[in-house]
Amino acid sequence: MLLAVTLNPSVDISYHLEHFKINDVNRVSKVKKTAGGKGLNVARVAHLLGVDVLSTGVLGGSLGQYIEQQLDQDQMNHQFLHTNQEARNCIAILHEGMQTEILESGPTLTSEDQVQFLIHFNRLLDQASVVTISGSIVKGFSNDVYGKLIEQAANKQIPVILDTSGQALEVSLRNKSALPYLIKPNISELSQLLDREISGDPEALKSALQDPLFYGIPWIVVSQGADGAFAKHYDNFYKVSIPKIKVENPVGSGDATVAGMAKAIDSEKGGETMLKYGMAAGMLNTMQAQTGYVDATQFDHYVNLVKVQKV
Ligand code: ADP
Repeated sequence: MLLAVTLNPSVDISYHLEHFKINDVNRVSKVKKTAGGKGLNVARVAHLLGVDVLSTGVLGGSLGQYIEQQLDQDQMNHQFLHTNQEARNCIAILHEGMQTEILESGPTLTSEDQVQFLIHFNRLLDQASVVTISGSIVKGFSNDVYGKLIEQAANKQIPVILDTSGQALEVSLRNKSALPYLIKPNISELSQLLDREISGDPEALKSALQDPLFYGIPWIVVSQGADGAFAKHYDNFYKVSIPKIKVENPVGSGDATVAGMAKAIDSEKGGETMLKYGMAAGMLNTMQAQTGYVDATQFDHYVNLVKVQKV
């Protein structure tokens, strides 16, 4: 079973407007509200791909209840730790071919909430074969909380895919006592992590991924949008090529890629298949208007179109 962690889930609201008027009233009839947060995108895509998934994290209030209702509607299993703090809304306004986003930062939790979540997570781990940890850390939790989750999973020999950025990622990578099994930065996250501009060129990527920051991490998969991915597995490097496809909406592709790779790990496939599953899920997500959604009937077809080449 895949245990998918979202520490700061949201109700994602999208408003479609012909024209977005600043300093004026905007009336909107085309509204969509979904359970959001990167980890819930991972969970949804994995669920659609037939993986047995359990979502967890922390949530509360009426928005928390709404998120759980949405997951129930989609028949997605969840066991969140409940708090008395209201979950957040994230608003995307789609207008004139653009997207303006207003993202609430979410609740501020307490150190006691963190203690309770670590106990809760440790219990859920007993059912898990793979864990995904996605997105930002909820306010109030320590910046090494992902490291603590990884440590608990490592104690039970459960691999963790960590998909986060900035300080949360860096702190986790510096904690060499318990490292994730796989990280999936994109080029801009990689550049931010190494504090220098990294090009998508295989030689530049090869040298970047040999930075001491990455020592001990079995898999690093650098996703490169339409250019596929570049991966490192210990001392081996792979260029992963994908076909040209018609893109509808690329938002959430990284989350779908994580879901595809988790599916491969959950069903004990090898590394090459894992990369192919990740790319296929990412591509399928870009072909849909909805974020974090895939047409699973197309999965095998796209898996077969991905090429993995040792470089
Ligand atoms: P992130 O959303 O984390 O920035 P990417 O944009 O690299 O991640 O996308 C993850 C994966 O989704 C890519 O490796 C690829 O398989 C697929 N993908 C994303 N954008 C495109 C695109 N424009 N065309 C084809 N595949 C894409």
